[in-house]
Amino acid sequence: MHDYKKHPWTMVYAYFIYILGGFGVTAGAHRLWTHRTYKANTKLKVILLLFYSMSGMYSVVDWVRDHRVHHKYSDTNADPHNINRGLLFAHVGWLCMKKHPDVIEKGRQMNMSDVTDDPLIRFHTKYYQWFHLFFCFVFPAIIPPLLWGEPWMVSILANSFVKYVALLNAVWTVNSLAHYYGNKPYDRNLRPTQNLLVAFLTKGEGHHNFHHAFPWDYRASEFLYIFHITTIGINLFNKLGWAYDLKTVSPEVLQKTVERYGDGTHELNQYKELPSNGF
Ligand SMILES: [Zn+2]
Ligand SMILES: [Zn+2]
Repeated sequence: MHDYKKHPWTMVYAYFIYILGGFGVTAGAHRLWTHRTYKANTKLKVILLLFYSMSGMYSVVDWVRDHRVHHKYSDTNADPHNINRGLLFAHVGWLCMKKHPDVIEKGRQMNMSDVTDDPLIRFHTKYYQWFHLFFCFVFPAIIPPLLWGEPWMVSILANSFVKYVALLNAVWTVNSLAHYYGNKPYDRNLRPTQNLLVAFLTKGEGHHNFHHAFPWDYRASEFLYIFHITTIGINLFNKLGWAYDLKTVSPEVLQKTVERYGDGTHELNQYKELPSNGF
């Protein structure tokens, strides 16, 4: 007899491993290795590589190269997921098609030595398919049947495949929806936007206008919301001393950028409209 009472535990567990895999992408591949927004000790690097393996994405080196090219040549032919080629192309189409020659050329020119010289990344890149096979598909599926008796088929479907597809699509929304829908309080000349739905799905990454304006900032946003799990996680590791030298944009630079380049939707603009006595 099938016991449906076990499913809620499996759903909570699936969401938990979805968060861990996503954290490996956002705090690891993105904010640590691509942008160097903070420094991490070896223990944290190992944890981030294992979490990254839970996402099942391609190698860290390829991720970092693509993302550095994306920032440097945003929304041009050299951008791997150029939004000007359409929402579907930016979401997933770019992974199904041959790369534009400009993407390949600019990718080759990109300085990657900080990543390719890291022995941990080199080791992970050499065996990443095995890491991904185990941490994305095998390990997540074996826990629920062993610990609370979830049927194997349900666990494999939920924790390996549904989680994998959900996580990939969540990450891809940053390249599609957060380059398409939303306001631009920090720089109206950029295509990237502030998109709350994407921010919720990706632990904060949807505040993409902020991120493209200040890519060296370790935070998802100048504001801290409960679902900014990436920022909260880095803060916790900072408390442990495992993450350090966290970079942030200064309030003065932020204010000047908002005033000079923003589209007028930042709350600073609302304060400006108040009478001088403020009441
Ligand atoms: Zn972007
Ligand atoms: Zn970035």
